[in-house]
Amino acid sequence: MYASSVWAPATEKITTQKQLNTVQRGFAQKICKSYRTVSLNAALLLADLIPLDLRIQEAAQLYEAKRGRPQDILCGREVERRVSFLDALHPSEEFAVEFRCLEDKESESEAKQAMTGLRIFTDGSKMEGGVGAALTCWKDGEETLIKKFRLESFCTVYQAEMYALYQATKVAIKTKEPSVNILSDSRSALETLGGTETFHPLAFAVKKNLSLLKAKGKEINFFWVRAHIGIEGNERADVLAKEAVEKLKTRPNYDGCPVSYIKRNIRRDTIVKWAERYKSGHTASVTKTFLPTVEAAHKFLKKTTMTPLLTQVFTGHGGFAEYLHRFKCKDSPSCVCDERQEENILHLIFDCPQHSRKRLDLQIEICMNLCRDSIPDILNEDRQTFLDFCCKIAEIAINRNKT
Ligand SMILES: [Zn+2]
Repeated sequence: MYASSVWAPATEKITTQKQLNTVQRGFAQKICKSYRTVSLNAALLLADLIPLDLRIQEAAQLYEAKRGRPQDILCGREVERRVSFLDALHPSEEFAVEFRCLEDKESESEAKQAMTGLRIFTDGSKMEGGVGAALTCWKDGEETLIKKFRLESFCTVYQAEMYALYQATKVAIKTKEPSVNILSDSRSALETLGGTETFHPLAFAVKKNLSLLKAKGKEINFFWVRAHIGIEGNERADVLAKEAVEKLKTRPNYDGCPVSYIKRNIRRDTIVKWAERYKSGHTASVTKTFLPTVEAAHKFLKKTTMTPLLTQVFTGHGGFAEYLHRFKCKDSPSCVCDERQEENILHLIFDCPQHSRKRLDLQIEICMNLCRDSIPDILNEDRQTFLDFCCKIAEIAINRNKT
């Protein structure tokens, strides 16, 4: 997918698509352990592989979004972009922020004794209703200032935590206190500040403020505190952040759209396109009986490991008389039950009288009627029993056809 944003438009052409399909079909067949005659449509589904041309378009779209080009899925909002190298600090001026870990309540109260000046607790929160951040300042055991902020609902907790830290540094700049301690329960946010290369826009803003504080000769210390162990300031910040989500009705203070959100949305669109292609394709008719949609297949494959036998069942390409006859490996396509009846996997599972007994036993065991329409439900509820049944029946036919 190298430089895909340049050549992604070419994937719309049929000839390019054919070339990509040839590349991917072989891989997909090997992954799902199928016969080489299995169609691309079925092989991709069973291998859980997104079609290559869609994957390329996806990568190109993500690149464009990261570059700041307007995207339909963003509805006019901007992506949170990395800080440009041109704006970054000179490497000689780069610095890492150190933080101390206060693992439990005891170490927190010990540290509290030693701390001079202002203590600022920060927290971020993401809930059903949105995303919020808050900070609370403490001096001599009393709360002196609180601030609450709202972030756009697609923002992450990480962004909220980082935004709270940024606001804390702003308070540190304004206050007359010569020494400020900032306490956060987000280790990932503090660790980002701990790195020397900072391209996250919020982390970058924090560092800019810290340089300013340094120049002013102020002392500033960072601490990580464990959340929900009853540290007063931290609990308070937590409550305030949740209040910010529930009660603040102002415009969001921060609305940088995280890349993860865009990725998720692009992927959702891709799956819709793939599902449409799978459904409308003329191939994979047997596979569609078992797995009618891309979503169903994805869910199924998360829980099941495909074996060569199972793939023969799910594709119908295997040691069945009708298939063998089609590829000139057997004289007759008919089933042992009836001369006029072709022996294929669907006939064996649903209709063939030689397996009536097994079918009846299965239906009693799973308490469901076995027919083509009930397959999705059966796969949902009694997957393994049904798969064992299918494999047993397929094996009998395959072994018979070997001789
Ligand atoms: Zn039969």
